[in-house]
Amino acid sequence: MPIYSHSRLGCFETCPLKYKFTYLDKIDRDTKGIEAFVGSRFHEVMEKLYKDLNCRTYSLEELLEIYNNNWAKEWTDDVVVTKKDRTAQDYKNIGKKCIEDYYKRYYPFNQGRTLGLERAIMMDLDGDGKHKLRGFIDRISQGDDGTYEIHDYKTSGYLPEQKHLDEDRQLALYQMGIENMWNDVKKTRLIWHYVAFDKELTSTRTKEQLEQLKKDTVALIDEVEQTEEFLPTESNLCEWCVYPDLCPKRKHLYKVEALPVNEYLKDDGVSLTNTFTKLVAKKRDCQGQIEEIEAEIDKVKEAVIQYAQKEGVEVIRGSDSKLKISEKQKVSSPPKGSPERKELEGILREVNKWDEVSDLDIYAMEKAVNELRWDKKIIDRIKQFLKIEVKRNVSLSKLQDKEK
Ligand code: SF4
Repeated sequence: MPIYSHSRLGCFETCPLKYKFTYLDKIDRDTKGIEAFVGSRFHEVMEKLYKDLNCRTYSLEELLEIYNNNWAKEWTDDVVVTKKDRTAQDYKNIGKKCIEDYYKRYYPFNQGRTLGLERAIMMDLDGDGKHKLRGFIDRISQGDDGTYEIHDYKTSGYLPEQKHLDEDRQLALYQMGIENMWNDVKKTRLIWHYVAFDKELTSTRTKEQLEQLKKDTVALIDEVEQTEEFLPTESNLCEWCVYPDLCPKRKHLYKVEALPVNEYLKDDGVSLTNTFTKLVAKKRDCQGQIEEIEAEIDKVKEAVIQYAQKEGVEVIRGSDSKLKISEKQKVSSPPKGSPERKELEGILREVNKWDEVSDLDIYAMEKAVNELRWDKKIIDRIKQFLKIEVKRNVSLSKLQDKEK
């Protein structure tokens, strides 16, 4: 079993297919998002600041110079700016502002003693070396009261809510890691520096929460190990995915995006989609007329029923057609789980009619199989009795602005 990491598990949770490309097929891509690039430059500055703090305290100007030099040294054309309304310089300015705000907030950086920077930690989750997890802590420090602090720098433009931090897996796993590294870890504080917002957010974990997290993480690792089909899961994160050319959800968009108009229109997929779109629009145009006709039919139907009742007839003749008037009773049961439903079931049992009407809930069973809600062993066992057909549907939606 491989050694896992929080980001490896997170990748599986957001999109199993991306996970497969990254960690199983190991498809290497040179491109890197600008957001990650800024994050790396900020982390380098923080590492330098705290590493040399024992012998000197850098001025803000010196830190910004380190930042600018590293930016120029590391910059390549493979760094991708995804957001169309932003430039690389905009991101560079954000990084600079983050350093300036951090400096003002924490100068002279004497809040606790630094114990480790970019410190690697290894966790053995089940104690037998089977489920192992590795991570890197941005900074570990210890306050005057002996509390250990795990610091994580986030340059992201999204500020999470407290409840999400209280459930965050990454730093809680790191807490387990440092508890195994030193005997005197009695109290630990998890600290996130959301530097783009000049915010420090904190959280703590109880022993019970850590135990639960350990179990959940082992279960997640088992799920990853047992997965045979790695399906694509679309989300906002697709914008930053480096595999659009391989993903069935994005492949065609990616392929035609770069084509000049004359070639673009010749593409079979583009042409089929355009034809489909025109037909759906045509159908929509007719829909209004259809609704009017249907309303008129309903009125005439009502008149026909009244006529048949008045005349005492069940068939009415026209010039070259006839109308048959029939009645069919429709029975509806009270909803599942309702007290009325329970009462109804009780009566049917009492009068020995339950076996005649209690049938398998086909809908619920299909849902359980389709959505893999039951254990794989159960599904495999019942699969032999089921006829499983793959129904393919075609649905139409508008391209989003960012896809145009
Ligand atoms: S583009 Fe989206 S759905 Fe496709 S592999 Fe990447 S993250 Fe997954």
